[in-house]
Amino acid sequence: MCTTCGCGQGETRIEGEHEHEHVMPDGTVYRHVHTHGSDHAHEAHTHFHRHADGTVHEHAHVHDGEHAHDHPAAAHEHEHRHADGTVHSHGHAHDGEHGHSGAHDHHHHENGHAHEDLHYGLGAARAHAPGMSQSRMVEIERDILSQNDAYAARNRELLRERGVFTVNLVSSPGAGKTTLLVKTIDALRQSVPVCVIEGDQQTTMDADRIRATGAPAIQVNTGKGCHLDAAMVGRALDRLAPADGSLLMIENVGNLVCPAAFDLGEAYKVVVLSVTEGEDKPLKYPDMFHAAKLMLLNKIDLLPYLQFDVDRCLAYARRVNPDMAILPVSATTGEGMQTWLEWLVQGVREARADRAESVDALRRRVTELEAQIARLKDC
Ligand code: MG
Repeated sequence: MCTTCGCGQGETRIEGEHEHEHVMPDGTVYRHVHTHGSDHAHEAHTHFHRHADGTVHEHAHVHDGEHAHDHPAAAHEHEHRHADGTVHSHGHAHDGEHGHSGAHDHHHHENGHAHEDLHYGLGAARAHAPGMSQSRMVEIERDILSQNDAYAARNRELLRERGVFTVNLVSSPGAGKTTLLVKTIDALRQSVPVCVIEGDQQTTMDADRIRATGAPAIQVNTGKGCHLDAAMVGRALDRLAPADGSLLMIENVGNLVCPAAFDLGEAYKVVVLSVTEGEDKPLKYPDMFHAAKLMLLNKIDLLPYLQFDVDRCLAYARRVNPDMAILPVSATTGEGMQTWLEWLVQGVREARADRAESVDALRRRVTELEAQIARLKDC
């Protein structure tokens, strides 16, 4: 929902920046429009409907009375009857009076449809915000993401120039990202310089844990925000200044929804799913598993004490993303960690090789230009 409601606006705090500094324009470029109360009572609203055969259509409604849009609290079904006799229903909630001057009838059912599930993700925006049309939500999301993508491209370019391999660790809260990071740093830091950007709504606890290993870390507090964005990461990069050829680990805010949409300039997203969660997470939060290059199935040392069906979980994950690599690990016992470390080291090697290539190309270009200048001088 963060791409539609702008929930983090004005809340970002980057560790080390001045306490009273307001979020700089480059970090808070999100614009969004909310409409509340009765001042939009006469505006047309667009409703999206999905039919059983999967087709979606939209049509405008005009609400000619006051109404509020706190939908979920008082949701009820609206049935639409079309001219050709087909009937479909969809969930709405209104806690004020309203009238519809649309071209079709609404049949309100007191009973009979209460068992039907509500799905607010079937419209073009695949989300719902009270009082906002689907087309407006799509527009806002495009605006937010295109601005984010511009920052992400800048971060990616900077990281590529420095030959830094960057992973964006995403998961639910409590999947074990920080412990995994601490163990990873302990194992790698003799051979690879590692630094970390930590994302949490509040506190510097995770950055403090990382710094206790001796690795540099910067905490980004997102306040009400539910994800890191590329502008925040860009500002953290300015402060962190990762060494050439190093490994940068970004620990995103614990959230399997919003971080999926935000490119930070990383090489890959790595999703961490712990066996203390449900094996059906990949199906429930497909965007995140679809976006990830690698899934770490963490806390496998706890399997003997849990009813967790590993095979089913892996099948669900592969159904969502057949190309995603999957690695069972336990950060606590070290099981599977060697393969994870090798995967990271391979990424570091590739980032360094990529940088070396571009440095060589640059040197060749400089030599060519010097030869041209020499020729011009001879003329
Ligand atoms: Mg953490």
